[in-house]
Amino acid sequence: MTPDCVVAVGAHPDDAEFFAGATLGNFAAKGAKVFVVICTDGARGGAEAGAALAELRRVEAERAALALGIRPPILLGRADGALEADEPLRRDLVRELRRLRPTLVLLHDPSTWWTPLRERTQLGHSDHRAAGQATLDALYPRLLLAGFYPELAAEGLSPWFAREAWLFDTAAPDHFVPVEEPGAAAKRGALSCHESQHVGGLLRGAAEIEEAFGKPLGVPAEAFRRLVLF
Ligand SMILES: [Zn+2]
Repeated sequence: MTPDCVVAVGAHPDDAEFFAGATLGNFAAKGAKVFVVICTDGARGGAEAGAALAELRRVEAERAALALGIRPPILLGRADGALEADEPLRRDLVRELRRLRPTLVLLHDPSTWWTPLRERTQLGHSDHRAAGQATLDALYPRLLLAGFYPELAAEGLSPWFAREAWLFDTAAPDHFVPVEEPGAAAKRGALSCHESQHVGGLLRGAAEIEEAFGKPLGVPAEAFRRLVLF
């Protein structure tokens, strides 16, 4: 079943498409409204760290969203490498989730310290864990209860609930989505937009994960831990 509206929350400008690009692209191709919220500015993701890199990564993220066939990205602009699941971040996420009203939210698994792949181990990123934790904290209980952030209700952003949360970037997946067309090509196109990030490495890394987590299906897959909330 295709959800009406999907929001993916990523820590960095390339995370949502890296971990879930084919799934997001296929949801969009089937008519879902798909949005990506990017928590940090990505300013440390390269040799020339700083404001110029952040601006470049903003442009790359916008191109990637176009390539994926989704809406323009929503940028929260936190400092790369220093993300914390603090109250201001939770509130910003509740604001976007109340505005967009998704039925499905995709997010980093906040418990990922490392992920065993076939021949090596991928260490988790502190920004990824913080983005995942803040998103879970937004989904419950802050998104639901009018007692949180009455100033948002005054802006017309009333409480909302998402029916499901799918955790990507997880070492404990239980839900596997085959990487099928047209989302597969859209994902490769989106990853190729992140030219500041060594596109070849992104494509190889994504393929490695798809292969490792696709074993239960026998075909490349994106992997999630699926939480049915309501
Ligand atoms: Zn990242």
